[in-house]
Amino acid sequence: MKIAVLGGGISGLSALHFLNKAFGDAAEVTLFESQKRVGGWIQSLEARKGLVIEAGPRSLRPHASTLQLLQDVGILKDAIPANKAAKARYLLIDDKLCNAPYSKEVLSRVLPALLHERKQEGPLFGASMDESVRSFFTRRLSSDVADYVVDPVVSGIWAANTEKLSMQATFGKLRDMEREYGNLTRAVLSRLRQEGRNHDDAESSTRTADPIAKGVEQSDQWKMLLKTPIYSFPGGLSHLPNTLYGRYSSNLQFSNPIEVIENDRNGGVRVNGSHFDYAVSAMPRRSLQAAVSKTVGPQAFHGFRTASLVVVNVTLEKRYKKNIGRPGFGHLIPSNQGKDILGVVYDSCVFPEQDRGNRNTRLTVMMGGDRRPDILSWSDEKVLDVVRSALKEQLNVDTDRISDTLIWRHVDAIPQYDIGHLDRVRNLEFHLRSSIPGLSLVGNSFYGVGVNDCVHRAKSVAEDLSNRALALTPK
Ligand SMILES: Cc1cc2nc3c(=O)[nH]c(=O)nc-3n(C[C@H](O)[C@H](O)[C@H](O)COP(=O)(O)OP(=O)(O)OC[C@H]3O[C@@H](n4cnc5c(N)ncnc54)[C@H](O)[C@@H]3O)c2cc1C
Repeated sequence: MKIAVLGGGISGLSALHFLNKAFGDAAEVTLFESQKRVGGWIQSLEARKGLVIEAGPRSLRPHASTLQLLQDVGILKDAIPANKAAKARYLLIDDKLCNAPYSKEVLSRVLPALLHERKQEGPLFGASMDESVRSFFTRRLSSDVADYVVDPVVSGIWAANTEKLSMQATFGKLRDMEREYGNLTRAVLSRLRQEGRNHDDAESSTRTADPIAKGVEQSDQWKMLLKTPIYSFPGGLSHLPNTLYGRYSSNLQFSNPIEVIENDRNGGVRVNGSHFDYAVSAMPRRSLQAAVSKTVGPQAFHGFRTASLVVVNVTLEKRYKKNIGRPGFGHLIPSNQGKDILGVVYDSCVFPEQDRGNRNTRLTVMMGGDRRPDILSWSDEKVLDVVRSALKEQLNVDTDRISDTLIWRHVDAIPQYDIGHLDRVRNLEFHLRSSIPGLSLVGNSFYGVGVNDCVHRAKSVAEDLSNRALALTPK
C-alpha cells in the first residue's frame, strides 16, 4: 500500500510517524515538502554565542499525543520543564504591568463577575449555534473579563479579534459546560472538585484525556512533564522535527510542491499524477485549495482566513535580572490599551538553559495579528522603533543594551477560526469526501492552532486510516 503525506510541518511529520507506526511494513509512506527543510513554523536557530532563538513556537503544554510522539522517537528524556519563576504572567493595564490573576487591577475586574455570574436570560444556544468569544464572556461574566482577561489570552494564542473568534472552535469545552451546568462558575468548581477527588489518577486529568494514552507506560520523565505547565528542549523546539527528519529521511522528498490532487478512478488518489492508496494533506489551506481546485470549487473554502505576525527576537547584554528584574513568562496587552505590540515573552527567564551559559538576555516581541493587518507593510526601522519604545516604556529596558535583533515577517501564520469555523470545516470535509474520498486532512488550518492539536489530529487520522485499511483487507 502507498500513502502520501503532503507538507512537512509538525502535522505532516507526525502523520508520517503515526502512519508508519500503525501500518508497519504494510505501507510505504512518502512525505512531500515544497521547501528544503522540515518543521514548517517550528524553527529554532543558534544566534551569536550559541543563544537559542525561536522564530515560531517556543513552548509546549504537556499533552498525551505529543508526549507519546516524543517517547516513540526517543526524545522524551531531552525535554526541559520551564523555570518555576515563569509561572508568573503579566498584563499591561494603564501602562502598568499587573500580575495575572492576583493583582488588584485584575482581581477588581474579574472577581465581581465571578461572584455574581449573570443568570442566563432566555433559552441557551442550540448545540450547533456559534457565537463570538467576546459575546460569550460578556454574556456570561462581564465585558471587563472579556476585555482584560480573555482578549490578551486570545492575542497570545490565536492573534485574533475576540469579536470574530468562534467560541465553539476555541473554547468549546467551556461552552459545553455552560450547556451542562447553566452556570460557568458552578461548572468550573464542580470540575475542580472532581479533579481533586481523582488527583492520583493521572488518566482522569484532561491533559491525558486522549484515549490512546491509556495503557501507555508513563515513565518518570513523562509524569514529571505532566506536572510542568510548559516545556521545550535545550536547543529549542526544532529538536522534534529534526529528530523526525533523522528517523524518516528516506521517506522524505524535499523541494517537491504538491500542485494537483485528484481522485483516481481506479481507486485511491492521484498526487501530482502519481497513484497513492491514501493521501493526507498537512499543507496550509491555500496550498490545499490550489491543489484540489480542478475538482473542488472555491465555495468549499469560503470564509477561511489567516492573520500575519511580525516576531522580533531581541538580545540584551547582561543577565536577565539586571535587565528586567521581573521573573515570569512574559506579558500580554489587552487590545483596548491601544498599543502597537501584542506582548513580550521573557525567553531567558522561561528556559535559562537556552542562554547556553552566556550573560545575555533573550526576549521576543510579538506584533500584528488580526487587529493589525497593516503590520507587513512596516519597514524594519519602524518595527525596531516600536520595539525599542515598547521595551523602554513597558519593561524599563535600557535600550542601549540591545545587542542583536532579528525580525521575522510571518505571512498568513495564524489561521483565524472565525464564528462558524466548525461548520466550514464540516462543509469542506463533505466536499472532499464526495470528490476525493482517499484524501484526509490534518493541520493547523482546520483542527487547532497549537502544536499539540496538530500532533493529536495527525495521530487520530493515522489510526483511522489504518482501521479503514484493515476493514477492507479480505479475512
Ligand atoms: C510565531 C508563532 C508562534 C507560535 N507559538 C506557539 C507555541 O508557543 N506553542 C504552540 O503549541 N504553537 C505555537 N504556534 C502555532 C504552531 O507553531 C503551528 O500551528 C504549527 O507549527 C503548524 O504546523 P502545521 O504542520 O500544521 O503547519 P505548517 O507549520 O504551516 O507546515 C505546513 C508545511 O507544508 C508545506 N507546504 C506548503 N505548501 C505546500 C505544497 N504545495 N506542497 C508541499 N508542501 C507544502 C510548508 O512548507 C510547511 O512545511 C505558533 C505559531 C507561530 C507562527
